[in-house]
Amino acid sequence: MSTHVFYSSEACKLPIYQFKKELIQAVKDNTFLVVTGETGSGKTTQLPQYLYEAGLCKDGKIGVTQPRRVAAITVAQRVSQEMGMKLGEEVGYQVRFDDCTSKNTMIKYMTDGCMLREILADSVLTHYSVVVLDEAHERSLNTDILIGLLKKTMSKKTSHGRTVCLKVVVMSATLETEKLSAFLGHCPVFTIPGRTFPVTEKFLNLIGPKDTERSAYVKEVVKVALDVHTNERAGDILVFLTGQSEIQKACDLLFQKAEVIDYRYDVNDSSVEGLLILPLYGAMPTDQQKQIFQPPPEGIRKCVVATNIAATSLTINGIRYIVDSGFVKQLNHSPRAGMDILEVVPISKSEAQQRAGRAGRTSAGKCFRIYSKDYWEKCMPDYTVPEIQRTSLTAVILTLKCLGVHDVIRFPYLDRPEERLILTALKQLYQYDAIDRRGQVTSLGKLMVEFPLHPGLTRALLKAAALDCEDIMLPVAAMLSVENVFIRPGQPETQKEADQKHRQIASEAGSFNDFVMLLNVFEKCKASDSPSAWCRDHWIHWRAVKSAFSVESQLREILHRLEEQGAVEKEKWDGSRSELFRRCLCLGYFTNVARRSIGKSFSTMDGHGSTVHIHPSSALSGQESQLDWIIFHDVLATSRMFVRTVCPIRYEWVKDLLPKLHEVDVYELSSVARE
Ligand code: ADP
Ligand code: MG
Repeated sequence: MSTHVFYSSEACKLPIYQFKKELIQAVKDNTFLVVTGETGSGKTTQLPQYLYEAGLCKDGKIGVTQPRRVAAITVAQRVSQEMGMKLGEEVGYQVRFDDCTSKNTMIKYMTDGCMLREILADSVLTHYSVVVLDEAHERSLNTDILIGLLKKTMSKKTSHGRTVCLKVVVMSATLETEKLSAFLGHCPVFTIPGRTFPVTEKFLNLIGPKDTERSAYVKEVVKVALDVHTNERAGDILVFLTGQSEIQKACDLLFQKAEVIDYRYDVNDSSVEGLLILPLYGAMPTDQQKQIFQPPPEGIRKCVVATNIAATSLTINGIRYIVDSGFVKQLNHSPRAGMDILEVVPISKSEAQQRAGRAGRTSAGKCFRIYSKDYWEKCMPDYTVPEIQRTSLTAVILTLKCLGVHDVIRFPYLDRPEERLILTALKQLYQYDAIDRRGQVTSLGKLMVEFPLHPGLTRALLKAAALDCEDIMLPVAAMLSVENVFIRPGQPETQKEADQKHRQIASEAGSFNDFVMLLNVFEKCKASDSPSAWCRDHWIHWRAVKSAFSVESQLREILHRLEEQGAVEKEKWDGSRSELFRRCLCLGYFTNVARRSIGKSFSTMDGHGSTVHIHPSSALSGQESQLDWIIFHDVLATSRMFVRTVCPIRYEWVKDLLPKLHEVDVYELSSVARE
């Protein structure tokens, strides 16, 4: 059985097209196959269509994983369009809290996290005939775990004694293919030859190893981009920065600077004379993202200001100039602080080369690096450390344990994380009561894994449900799961106004507490007749709140299902609802407790005693002197370690929990982990 697929002339020109037949055969002939080729050669958008055409989905779907949610959505849109089908029908996508698939879906793009959850529900992936793990070179935590899990699964038989007849394709940019193949039993590597053009690389020396004022790079990249626009011949520009607020700031600056140097400024089509400025980051509305791929109007130069997503996941045609800030935002586990910290760090040399390569896809290009050669040599590592070796493994280890992988130390990791990271995760799971002293998953742990949330937050939610205050906790958990609720304009005057509005929301809720502030935003919008206007007036992203509405109802559904199974035992505690709410939070966040030390600084209570400050975005910022104990949701490291989303608590609420932070001997957990 095969299905006819029509390929456009554009698709026929992609390097992968010539290898269609051989590729289909290679997938049919092998359980594992590694496919590699330059970014933009057509792997992600074309290969699944080839397999579909060849009838490989007659026994199940084709699942294609992506480390980034935007990539999963954008690519699914593109492929459904190429195939002339409505998105969500034959071609669909699923990302956390957003499922756009139907029973007809044959090609399903999804985040690697979603695939991991599918394995939790069905370890041999009965509904799939092919699993494609895309962007394996990115080495995201979930993709790494999936590679290990599938390697394990394919070597054993199902309970019916049948061998699993799933095909696994691992796709990767040119790096690391030998290693992947060796790991997967020396499976064949299919290389799609691709032509690339030379890229001239220039170091502009605007940042050297001694420059510690890092935020200056936003201004520098803007200057360079404008320079390129005025001095270089036709061709689009791609600027690499680290995150949303920075990207917005850079786009604003591009407009302003352009005004100063006498460019025309037109708000309506976001263009400086001859320059079309387009931001690209994860939390952006998808209709805006579509614009990125459209060729600019005649005589206009496109300038895309993007996060690392444009380095490999998404290919924009027509780029001839790269402006590289040299930085990326990364979540790193800090052994010193004992926490995961979001920080802006220098990219690796291999990453810088990948970024530069984006300029040479269709003709010779240029890459402008704002840093110096000295900086490159002294500050930039050769390779990016895989996520599994630098972030908290708590959620993943719980998933593995629930999948029956008891020995999490000897699990087949593509790159083994340091034992210390595994032990920290085990310790944290023990502290949350998700596993017992013998490393076995508890009944609470089994409930926790049902929620696509951080285990700590899940624990707070489950306790709230037991105490009948889930109506407060569900919206909070939902608001914490969406990105960028509060608009932070950046410019001093407007920032002041935004801060005032945000604080007003907090005080209306009766307490200066960031969790309650989130709750109040949620409830105000729910009750409002024109929530978007309310949001605009209060410097809130309405889109974020709208997705929180959907997240909340999905979390509520999961909770109701568990309640119906009688899995949530009711309890009764004394105290007002507001107090109960905060005590529930403490159960999930007692690992993030700090006590005020000197002046405005706090000291964490997890045994590390790190010094932290309250982030200016918090409703509690400026009121430090009235505070004693606090809990916080996350940590951002810029000039200092800032804690965000903060709640004042009483010592009594954590008194009995804190000893648990020191109680268990990690070696005990490590020996049971090895049993
Ligand atoms: P690879 O996975 O090998 O990096 P892709 O399949 O992502 O390659 O891209 C193949 C081609 O399809 C590229 O030229 C890219 O620009 C184009 N493309 C991908 N997504 C879109 C989109 N949403 N709109 C327009 N063109 C796209
Ligand atoms: Mg790709």
